[in-house]
Amino acid sequence: MNPTALTNNGLYKAPKSEFMIIFVSANLKKILQLKEKFPWPRPKICPNCKSHKVWGHGFLLAYFDESNSGILIRRYRCPDCSTVIRMRPAGYLARFQASIKTIRSSIASKVIKQRWLPVLNRTRQQHWFRGLVRRAKAFLGDTWKENMVKAFDHFVTHKMNPVTRSFKPEPCSFQMEPTEE
Ligand SMILES: [Zn+2]
Repeated sequence: MNPTALTNNGLYKAPKSEFMIIFVSANLKKILQLKEKFPWPRPKICPNCKSHKVWGHGFLLAYFDESNSGILIRRYRCPDCSTVIRMRPAGYLARFQASIKTIRSSIASKVIKQRWLPVLNRTRQQHWFRGLVRRAKAFLGDTWKENMVKAFDHFVTHKMNPVTRSFKPEPCSFQMEPTEE
């Protein structure tokens, strides 16, 4: 135990808990089919404090456009720093139900054809586009104004959510290859 983590009365003060996302190559259909039995990879070390024990922390129900029902997503927790690690299928952004590919198609349709994708709710598409414009202005400046698809790709390449309204730093995201337990 780190002695500086002790409070005046000698009690152990838990470090501030964090929340992290690990993106893994995982097939949605397979997760839906196998439910709790889906072989999620277990992080070998805590991405926050590098502790070598990471415990299972139940499941979370997440929703994606590709499925009508919620999908059980594995969570882990580090007992040393209380960080909760949430798995997420690669190809999706944190907190967005549409895939990155779908959002990109919508942005491209708006930019190139000046119309929204007919198969998707217009309000959602407007929300994504406005989010992207705001982020491009804030992070890339006005020169990107004419090239929103390029701006989108730039954010994705740099592991930044291109369409989020949140200007708080995103929870740390890691890419992890699936491993068989
Ligand atoms: Zn930790």
